[in-house]
Amino acid sequence: MRPGEARGRTERDDAEEPVTDTQSSSPSLENLLHETRTFPPSGEFAAQANAQPSLYEDAAADRLEFWARQARDLVTWRTPFTETLDWSGAPVARWFADGTLNAAYNAVDRHVEAGLGDRVAIHFEGEPGDTRTVTYADMQREVSRAANALAALGVESGDRVVIYMPMLVESAVAMLACARIGAAHSVVFGGFSADALRSRIADAEAKVVITADGGYRRGAPSPLKPAVDEALRGEGAESVEHVLVVRRTEQDVDWTEGRDVWWHDVVDTADDVHEPTWVEAEHPLFILYTSGTTGKPKGILHTTGGYLTQAAYTHKNVFDLKPESDVYWCSADIGWVTGHTYIVYGPMLNGATQVMYEGTPDTPHKGRWWELVEKYKVSLFYTAPTAIRACMKWGEEIPAGFDLSSLRLLGSVGEPINPEAWMWYRRVIGGDTTPIVDTWWQTETGAIMISPLPGVTATKPGSAQVPLPGISADVVDDEAKPVPDGGGGYLVLSEPWPSMLRGIWGDLQRFKDTYWSRFPGLYFAGDGAKKDEDGDIWLLGRVDDVMNVSGHRLSTTEIESALVSNDLVAEAAVVGASDEMSGQAVVAFVILRGEHADEASTDEGSARIEKTLRDHVAKEIGPIAKPRRILVVPELPKTRSGKIMRRLLRDVAENREVGDATTLADSSVMNLIQAGLGKPS
Ligand code: ATP
Ligand code: MG
Repeated sequence: MRPGEARGRTERDDAEEPVTDTQSSSPSLENLLHETRTFPPSGEFAAQANAQPSLYEDAAADRLEFWARQARDLVTWRTPFTETLDWSGAPVARWFADGTLNAAYNAVDRHVEAGLGDRVAIHFEGEPGDTRTVTYADMQREVSRAANALAALGVESGDRVVIYMPMLVESAVAMLACARIGAAHSVVFGGFSADALRSRIADAEAKVVITADGGYRRGAPSPLKPAVDEALRGEGAESVEHVLVVRRTEQDVDWTEGRDVWWHDVVDTADDVHEPTWVEAEHPLFILYTSGTTGKPKGILHTTGGYLTQAAYTHKNVFDLKPESDVYWCSADIGWVTGHTYIVYGPMLNGATQVMYEGTPDTPHKGRWWELVEKYKVSLFYTAPTAIRACMKWGEEIPAGFDLSSLRLLGSVGEPINPEAWMWYRRVIGGDTTPIVDTWWQTETGAIMISPLPGVTATKPGSAQVPLPGISADVVDDEAKPVPDGGGGYLVLSEPWPSMLRGIWGDLQRFKDTYWSRFPGLYFAGDGAKKDEDGDIWLLGRVDDVMNVSGHRLSTTEIESALVSNDLVAEAAVVGASDEMSGQAVVAFVILRGEHADEASTDEGSARIEKTLRDHVAKEIGPIAKPRRILVVPELPKTRSGKIMRRLLRDVAENREVGDATTLADSSVMNLIQAGLGKPS
């Protein structure tokens, strides 16, 4: 599609939607998309499921006692706790505060002590095809060595360590080694720039940085150490005393004597016995910066006892983990909270066997993930909607070439999953049988909060549905009143939960302002949501992204889902651009499915596509939601965790200079989009 054209001939089309002031005060999001398909659990799955309906009853009967029981059953305490929750310092919670424990002991040692040392903890697969099998006994030795090495480098309980690594076994080992000695880790995505790394090092005043020479991405070694060197040359990173470097790619690296040390020199030679540092439940476990989808990232602080409790509880019940027989795989990067809770802490606390993969899904071919599912007989698989949509774009003949029959449950996280992507995931990857758990949560919540329970909940494509047992979530209007079924508004969490953030690192006021000021006494997540007629929750995107068109408040998610339900479209991002007539106009950026990609190259073809999609949206959800402009683009701007950064697209739609793009996965994407639209980049 030619952009000039898309801009030129739109104006009068939507004249049927006048501005109506009476509607503009409407507080709630409109409920546009109607989804009626449901998938009740099979009797077979339900009979064997970890989660039973009684879990809801237990939690409802006595919420705090319910959590205390999870904490006792799923976590091993050095000193038992006597108090479950202290909320007197709200909004900073204290859970299980007088108990002591150690996270690494819980993730590793206790399994070895229970005689499970030979169980595989990690099947590692490097992008070039190298493999490594690590048992829990191996993990115990490796984590102990790394803990001894960090201690020898001067790291003490309470210190902060930045981890800037590819996806390697050593990355998980490094995190657990920090936890073992009571140091908080702060993992920074390996794809981030030296500047992003420096600001995070400075904010946490880290004593040590753990990195690698590089990692393999898209078929080539990609360097990491140079970014650390650059970050440490700048101002603000003076706290760093040592850089611990894993050798992975054998690329040449600059070396600062006295500061830099090789992992194989100091870790491999260290004593493989180490007594864990027992810490209080509220001892900091990690700091992690949010994805930065909506603005400047926030350094989210998590502590030990409550976080581990909810990590283990959710991993066991939402993924129905059977540690003796399942092979679990979460495709996230450890630089994202999903990698923390559902690669390192949740699965290892539960003694799971998991796959860890270093590289990208399309290297060396687009079936790499499915090849790994077949090879390791993966039974539980957890990924993000962005990856599912990419696989849809590549075509279903690719997964069809592999035996995926080992899969018995699929999960999704990171964004609302469009109903059509959900259906595709279930049919093509899940063989039309697997339950899908659409899990809503945030860096701030630490663990899953809203999700169907497999074996219990009849699932609905596109809806995360219900708060987990023990969690209180609701959708409220502008006055903080719960909306009735069928209404839309803001997602809030109304009771403290064990894995909740304990603050923004070094900035208590920002913590209060960001999450607790919009609705006093309620945690405001920043997401729009609706309740359907059954009371199930649907996530509708960020409230920052909600559009106001002629007085109607429309969600980006629903219009995007309508676009993705058309065969022409692989991915869509919708933004509201200011418009004199209607307040805001809907502007859609679409990526066409592979087989249609060429059609937009002629004027005629692009006009046809635009008309088809506009009519399609009108039919699916109504004329008010019809995009004013539809722009065909080759890519969409995404964060490293795969979320679309709509604020950058809004800048494009409103002809502004593009804002802060430092947490984009690929910084060239905005240039690509603007060049394609005939704008200077
Ligand atoms: P920032 O807060 O810096 O803008 P971010 O919110 O993208 O970054 P994360 O904590 O990684 O950082 O993402 C959490 C957000 O992801 C949620 O608030 C929600 O918008 C979205 N999300 C996660 N899972 C789901 C889901 N299953 N359905 C809908 N949205 C989801
Ligand atoms: Mg957020």
